[in-house]
Amino acid sequence: KPYIHIHEVHKTYPDGTKALEPIHLEIRHGEVLVLLGPSGCGKSTLLRMIAGLEQTSGGSITVNGEEISHLPPEKRDIGLVFQQYALFPTMTVAQNIAFGMKLRKKSKQEIQKKVQDMLELMNLQELKDRKPAQLSGGQQQRAAVARALATEPKILLMDEPLTALDAKLKEYLRIELAQLFRKLNITTVYVTHDQVEAMATADRIAVMDKGVIRQIGTPKEIYHQP
Ligand code: ADP
Ligand code: ADP
Repeated sequence: KPYIHIHEVHKTYPDGTKALEPIHLEIRHGEVLVLLGPSGCGKSTLLRMIAGLEQTSGGSITVNGEEISHLPPEKRDIGLVFQQYALFPTMTVAQNIAFGMKLRKKSKQEIQKKVQDMLELMNLQELKDRKPAQLSGGQQQRAAVARALATEPKILLMDEPLTALDAKLKEYLRIELAQLFRKLNITTVYVTHDQVEAMATADRIAVMDKGVIRQIGTPKEIYHQP
């Protein structure tokens, strides 16, 4: 049984742009599903609809059997990481990580513990008191991942998390993310236009083109067919 069930979801923007034909996609619990395709094919639109940041034009999205397409973002139990890391610039790394838990009125001890755990997980201990502007792009993205995971979301959504980084950082963080995914086992939808990135991180890849899913399978199935 799929964990996230996207059924006949389509999207036409108010200006008439048709971004997605009716999409059918089943995402399993704990898997990393990569949406791969060229710019403009509808990847972000689909991700944003799962996140609740964009309304669907029709169809249904269920998580664990529950219809969520009418739920606002804050009710969806989702962690988000975007290309343009949206860390709060006036807060330290630790405060950024703590933010979502403070909103949820977690206890001081619980927050302290979790901030520590996240700093360790993402190897940020030394940087906890720095502001985002004092971090490299890769460090900012690690902090963004730490913040996204701190509230223990059921689903992690990542939109081109490595695209803004230079080639070397990209390679480094790609390997780090792949290891993290294997360790975490959190249901993840990961958007990229980069085939190498997709192959490194995905359990399955959905290849998109012009608003449709052309092919779906493991990296092996998609790239090593005889
Ligand atoms: P991708 O993430 O694959 O680059 P998007 O989902 O961003 O693709 O965009 C899919 C299509 O929808 C593109 O043609 C894009 O120009 C269009 N689009 C995206 N956002 C909007 C918007 N807010 N209004 C109108 N058209 C949009
Ligand atoms: P306060 O809640 O007292 O205003 P802050 O806003 O400075 O504290 O920080 C929010 C939370 O972030 C704290 O409760 C703490 O758990 C965590 N935090 C802040 N700074 C650090 C730090 N240097 N090391 C570990 N955790 C920190």
